[in-house]
Amino acid sequence: MDADFLIIGGGIAGISAAARLSELGSVILLEGEATLAHHASGRSAALYEPHYGAPAVVGLSLASEAHFRALPGVLSPRGLMLVAKADAREAFQHDLAAMDFAPISVAEAMKIVPVLNPDVVAFTGYADHAEDVDTDLLLQGFAREARGKGARIVTGAQVSTILREATGWRVASAAGTFTARMLVNAAGAWADAVAIMAGVQPLGFTPLRRSMARIPAPGGHDVSRWPMLFGPGEDWYAKPDAGALIVSPAEEHPMPPHDAWADDMVLAEGLARYEEMVTEPVTRVLSNWAGLRTFSPDRVLVIGPDVREPAFFWLAGQGGYGFQTCPAASRLTADLIGGRMPDLDPGLVAALAPARFG
Ligand SMILES: Cc1cc2nc3c(=O)[nH]c(=O)nc-3n(C[C@H](O)[C@H](O)[C@H](O)COP(=O)(O)OP(=O)(O)OC[C@H]3O[C@@H](n4cnc5c(N)ncnc54)[C@H](O)[C@@H]3O)c2cc1C
Repeated sequence: MDADFLIIGGGIAGISAAARLSELGSVILLEGEATLAHHASGRSAALYEPHYGAPAVVGLSLASEAHFRALPGVLSPRGLMLVAKADAREAFQHDLAAMDFAPISVAEAMKIVPVLNPDVVAFTGYADHAEDVDTDLLLQGFAREARGKGARIVTGAQVSTILREATGWRVASAAGTFTARMLVNAAGAWADAVAIMAGVQPLGFTPLRRSMARIPAPGGHDVSRWPMLFGPGEDWYAKPDAGALIVSPAEEHPMPPHDAWADDMVLAEGLARYEEMVTEPVTRVLSNWAGLRTFSPDRVLVIGPDVREPAFFWLAGQGGYGFQTCPAASRLTADLIGGRMPDLDPGLVAALAPARFG
């Protein structure tokens, strides 16, 4: 055997799992692209908002907080502002409660974000619990930790066949053939494709495209301390990003797994929803991109051994929460593989287990 654990996927899920699993045995991680984090993990909004998502996702995000706090520089204050028109009262009230915002007056909101248009914006809410994640620092930290414990991280290693053998797996990739006792599927949008290759039943993941435009700071303002702005019902958002603003239409368009790019029309419509709420027009787009947020049928991550093939471990369906959940998700992965009692609530572990899909 070349290794105890072979991980397929060099995004945040696979890299964080490599760090934790290298404490238990030998690890090989295979990434098809030439660099790590080429797909979803290189295209996120980089936010830690633990109240975002289904209860099991919130549980994992909250369980990740201590790890983030222990890494200097990974989290930095951001805050959230919910901004709604008069006809969006119901959606505003829903988000206010769901994401734990405090209502504030439009005048107070304008002191924080002076470009809000008081003729259009009718309701505003504020929350200080969301933080920026330095995703590169986080990812490189896990990669360094994994390599330091002997993990082999191989890029340019697109996996093309997976064979089950008596004692484990034989995996052929563009960088050679590797054998391992256990396979960890951290292939993001390709999680079902990897399962099919291994002869394991797919679980029905859906990659949903989400696009992003980077625009100059509106009106030349210093946006560095502005909170992230959210439209009600998450129909757009905007976030300061290194002196500029990134604006997303927040779309969820089902797509086959692929190297995603932004759709011009979707981007234009999202920018229009943002622009309606502010006094400064969008004059140009500096750059744009899109990524796939891949969800399981119940929009909760899938972490655990396959029901019929226990040597095949699922670490998939990170959706829009892959960064904010990765410390707890990777720890749970190692606990389950290592036969240790997870330090998460058993109900939460069951809500994440592949067994919930039968
Ligand atoms: C616009 C946008 C905003 C987001 N904002 C946030 C946010 O604010 N906070 C947050 O926590 N999350 C956010 N996310 C979600 C987050 O980016 C993802 O959940 C996370 O990156 C998923 O990581 P992953 O490792 O599962 O997938 P990926 O990063 O896609 O990695 C999977 C890897 O597997 C590789 N692979 C697949 N098949 C094979 C094969 N056969 N052989 C070899 N390699 C293979 C792929 O090349 C890929 O690199 C956002 C996502 C998007 C798109």
